[in-house]
Amino acid sequence: MIPLAIPNLAGREAQYLQECVTTNFVSSVGPFVDRFEKELAEKVGAKFAVSTSSGTTALHLALTVLGVGHNDLVILPSFTFIASANAISHCGAKPWLFDVDPNSWTISVAQLEQALAEKTRVESGRVIHKMTGQRVAAIMPVYTLGTVPDMDAIRKLANKYKLPVIADAAAALGATYHHDHIGGLAEMTAFSFNGNKIITSGGGGMIVGNDETLMKKAKHLCTTARVSEDYLHDQIGFNYRMTNIGAALGCAQLELLDKFLNKKREIAAKYRAAFASFSDVNCFPMPSWAESACWFSGVVLGEKWEVKKVCEQLKTNGIAARPFWMPIHLQPPYARALKESFTVTESFWRGILTLPCSTSLTGQDQDFVIQKLQNILQEG
Ligand SMILES: *Cc1c(COP(=O)(O)O)cnc(C)c1O
Repeated sequence: MIPLAIPNLAGREAQYLQECVTTNFVSSVGPFVDRFEKELAEKVGAKFAVSTSSGTTALHLALTVLGVGHNDLVILPSFTFIASANAISHCGAKPWLFDVDPNSWTISVAQLEQALAEKTRVESGRVIHKMTGQRVAAIMPVYTLGTVPDMDAIRKLANKYKLPVIADAAAALGATYHHDHIGGLAEMTAFSFNGNKIITSGGGGMIVGNDETLMKKAKHLCTTARVSEDYLHDQIGFNYRMTNIGAALGCAQLELLDKFLNKKREIAAKYRAAFASFSDVNCFPMPSWAESACWFSGVVLGEKWEVKKVCEQLKTNGIAARPFWMPIHLQPPYARALKESFTVTESFWRGILTLPCSTSLTGQDQDFVIQKLQNILQEG
């Protein structure tokens, strides 16, 4: 079976893991934790980083530090992984769901601008959603598939309404925005190192940011809000720490990041070229302002094809392929969430077919995938 997106442990992973065992640093403190935070912050151009147990806990921690609480609304594109919405729910808050732009699959700035203008009012510095009376507490753009949205426009709106921005950059490590780093585009930016992401720490996450006070708060809450060695805790904190074992993997993986990014982009370009001439088959969008990390690769099939059926046909040829995120507004736990219209999201999400894109994918295997899919599409 040619897998969809699996870890590629091609560097010093075994050596660093052995080091954890030899030095007895296997738990939530250790030299690799500090090193991974420092090196990742540098890599994305941020001053500070706090490592966490997952991307989801990174988002929950960031939202909490930025003051998102009970019954607040957090602006979120519906086209995202359910963890983005869950992190909001874990704060006791609710997502306010938006459509995406067709040219980036990231939150629709036009819809956001209009909704903020028409559906909210500012009341002693707080943004209040008129119909429900709920406070709008933050904006959470998602860097979909590794693509950064039009953050200049989002920042402008955030500044106008004095709303903090938490970027869900779970799968966007290595992406750039106007040829620049992405670590400072939001108050806090969260990454994931789950097994299928750009790099992995087994499981884990990281928040980066430039505001020292906020980031210190994040570190404090992440480590049970411990004040001193004598078990004094000044808040209800979390145990969201990354282990030294995870960070050891992460450090080894980070050394391979540039190689992985080249490979991810090469895979995406090859699929793009292979299906360019197919009518009714589209590629994932690539806006001009951002270079995507190309987390997942694939195609968007027109309505005459059924993605699940194509996946089955690929599977019988030994190829793992899958549909992609079902939007949040269609998920049972969020069926009653506050929402805008989803004209764009509804027009493409059912057609998405993700294809093998592990960084260990050989050229020969990718050629095989392309050939089989071309055959299936030509027949269908
Ligand atoms: C993977 C992912 C997450 C969650 O990260 P975990 O480490 O799996 O908790 C959140 N948001 C997006 C967009 C993701 O792709």
